[in-house]
Amino acid sequence: MCFGTSSGQLNQLAHYGPIGAISLIIWITISGFHCLTQWFPPDSKDILSVINFLIFWIWPVVIFYNYFRAVFVGPGFVPKGWKPAKIEHEKYLQYCDVCEGFKAPRAHHCKKCRRCVMKLDHHCPWINTCTGHFNHANFCWFMFYAILGCTHALLMLCPCIYRALFAQYYIYARIKNVPIIYFTFVGLISCILSIGLALGVIFAVGFLLIVQLRSIMRNQTGIESWILRKARDRNHRRAKAFIYPYDLGFKENFRQVFNWRESYNVIGDGLIWPVRDGSDEYALTCEQLEQKKDKRQRTVRYEVVQSYKGSYITLRYGFCTCICIPWSDETRMPIEKGDYVLVTRWERYWLYGECVTANETKKNDDIINSHHRLRRRPRGWFPRCCIYEAFRIEDLWSGKINPDSDVVRAQLANFSPEDYDNNDEEYVEQNEENQSDDTASASSASSSSSKTLNQRKNHKEKLI
Ligand SMILES: [Zn+2]
Ligand SMILES: [Zn+2]
Repeated sequence: MCFGTSSGQLNQLAHYGPIGAISLIIWITISGFHCLTQWFPPDSKDILSVINFLIFWIWPVVIFYNYFRAVFVGPGFVPKGWKPAKIEHEKYLQYCDVCEGFKAPRAHHCKKCRRCVMKLDHHCPWINTCTGHFNHANFCWFMFYAILGCTHALLMLCPCIYRALFAQYYIYARIKNVPIIYFTFVGLISCILSIGLALGVIFAVGFLLIVQLRSIMRNQTGIESWILRKARDRNHRRAKAFIYPYDLGFKENFRQVFNWRESYNVIGDGLIWPVRDGSDEYALTCEQLEQKKDKRQRTVRYEVVQSYKGSYITLRYGFCTCICIPWSDETRMPIEKGDYVLVTRWERYWLYGECVTANETKKNDDIINSHHRLRRRPRGWFPRCCIYEAFRIEDLWSGKINPDSDVVRAQLANFSPEDYDNNDEEYVEQNEENQSDDTASASSASSSSSKTLNQRKNHKEKLI
């Protein structure tokens, strides 16, 4: 079986994620076992106790089996320098500078793995690799069994601690057929802690599993859901609504991941994907390229009117700003009054963009461009109230504001839409910076604006 060019390495476990996950499983298992042996010990006269004992030990086996497969099989990486079989298909794909190859359909670059990952869903710190094509099923089974295992451990831990805490009562009342349970202080604290950890796993992993099953049911990774949402926003601009190509129907979507008909083997090589009737294999990659083009054209420049130090506690910017934080681990960007920001994404109270410092704006365009090439501008989220908004960026996107109006033209970043070079070949951006993952692909829009300016200048020079 091909797992791309590399699968997991043993040193992948030397990371806080796997160390934490493995320790957690061992801790809960040992605590649960300690309680089981006191409260419901296996007894040859009681078949139920033997079954309970055996089932209890099945959980860590299946949990660790799926966990280590998820780690060591890995998601599958697109081979470095990969190209589609036909050269004319290259224009439908994005190019990855780091991997020096094209991104296969459904593949995205992961900054942490430093590779393009097949059907990337997300980078998971607990397995210290991405969840993708080859390990998606094992990752889901791992979560499923972890929930069952923790539930079983809870059923052993809770009654056992209850009996231990009220041991005096059982002794005093001389209640028969109830095991008297004693804990040392450390043992008691350890088991109470295990209850908290097991509950945490059940709720947190349960939520993640529901999210995963929903995405498998639709045959959409988290990144693809995001691309699809944007595609629907753009539907009003085309004659025919965008159809997601990988949705093969509920049952087939599940089979694509779990493949119960063929011994649960993974289907396909992770580079070529089955698509629904009436769609083609590059429908989504072309849509992505169009979206990136849109973003480049619509990056908006705003002036900063209030400084922000990049703090995570933002009460001074208003209660709503403090509460409604962006759901992302992307950085917060310090900005100074007088700077400019090139905004590409937005939340109600937060904006994401790139900072153009006041010093930089004083220099002429050529210097700005050369600096931009050499030194990446800071990017991140900042409170929306820190900028002066002559118009709201979402109003521009939704068509409420005319993009040709003077107020918009004055704030479009560095270039005007009508000057944009629409050459299709430019979509394959060989100089595009590779973002942390493609959920953040919008952030690349502003960096591309500099390139676009260069293209525009070259275009003008040719005309002259
Ligand atoms: Zn890559
Ligand atoms: Zn990764």
